[in-house]
Amino acid sequence: MDDRSKYLYVCDTLADMNDVDGFLGVITRSCLDEYVRDNDARTIPIVHSVGHVDHLVDDDIVAINSRSGMVRTLFRPQSNNNALFLTERCNNNCLMCSQPPRNDRDEEFLGMALRLVGMIPQDTANIAITGGEPTLLGNGLLDVISDCKTQLPNTNITILTNGRMFYYRSYVKRLSDIEHPHLMLAIPLYSDVPEQHNQIVRSEEAFQQSVLGIYNLGAHNQDIEVRIVLHALNFKRLPHLCEFIYRNLPFISHVAIMGMEVTGYARKNLGQLWIEPYDYSGQLVEGVEFLATRGMNVSIYNTPLCILPEPVWKYARQSISDWKTIYLEECSKCQVKDKCGGLFQTSGQKYSQHIHAVLS
Ligand code: SF4
Repeated sequence: MDDRSKYLYVCDTLADMNDVDGFLGVITRSCLDEYVRDNDARTIPIVHSVGHVDHLVDDDIVAINSRSGMVRTLFRPQSNNNALFLTERCNNNCLMCSQPPRNDRDEEFLGMALRLVGMIPQDTANIAITGGEPTLLGNGLLDVISDCKTQLPNTNITILTNGRMFYYRSYVKRLSDIEHPHLMLAIPLYSDVPEQHNQIVRSEEAFQQSVLGIYNLGAHNQDIEVRIVLHALNFKRLPHLCEFIYRNLPFISHVAIMGMEVTGYARKNLGQLWIEPYDYSGQLVEGVEFLATRGMNVSIYNTPLCILPEPVWKYARQSISDWKTIYLEECSKCQVKDKCGGLFQTSGQKYSQHIHAVLS
């Protein structure tokens, strides 16, 4: 460390406060109640009595709030799943949203994201921009993209968006004028039937705005991924949706068809949404093969290999964020575990009944 004053002091036990001279903050498992009470004028924030510090490693970027004791890890250099979180607001209200929208704190998130972009190492391969719906920040999102272009010129940026704001051509023009060289817009479509998509996202104009948004982005040569989350309300029409995409949106770069994370609204609405993933494998294979044989780039996300027919294993990706991925006891015997993306730890034990070790 050349300049200790830039770093946090993170430790299990802290016996001597002199050890932290030159640091900007302290996170420790030690109980420092007495010290904090007797030193109102201390110059650095201290978060003490925390349960775990083992997950923090060198070069992690964290935000600490010494009043609430909240420590948030904002960036982990060892992970390929880092994201800039811009807002908790959304103009959709999807039945299966894993992170239900809330109306507050945009300025705090935007300020933190802009600051974070300047701290992330330039050799970072991938960053997502997410929310909520990041386009609701309007120019704020464009500022983040511009900053990414300047400060992280080689980093791939994927924006997770419902795409509705791109219905407005002036916004697409302003986005395209940034000329970010490695930008992907990942936009969900849940059905080829507008009313069914709108029912799933619980918003009346959504299908029309998202599809026209995709056209506007395409007209400006932006890279676009279409994302499809499968559940009981839409799996039957998956082959039709794939045909709709092939016939109407052939200019997009990638289609990702994915299993549902059973958390947030998805857990609350599970009675309507749950289908045993094994039971939609017929539609999944038909949709994937329809797109692949016509030259479209297609992937399967969030689905363990053992519930997929082997011919489509080659489309399955390790897509679940590393910190959310788990394997079950059964997986320890599995011979394809190293190729399998595992399961959502956040799905609270709601997994396919067909998980089984693959023994070749
Ligand atoms: S048994 Fe586990 S590791 Fe093997 S394919 Fe199934 S989920 Fe993946």
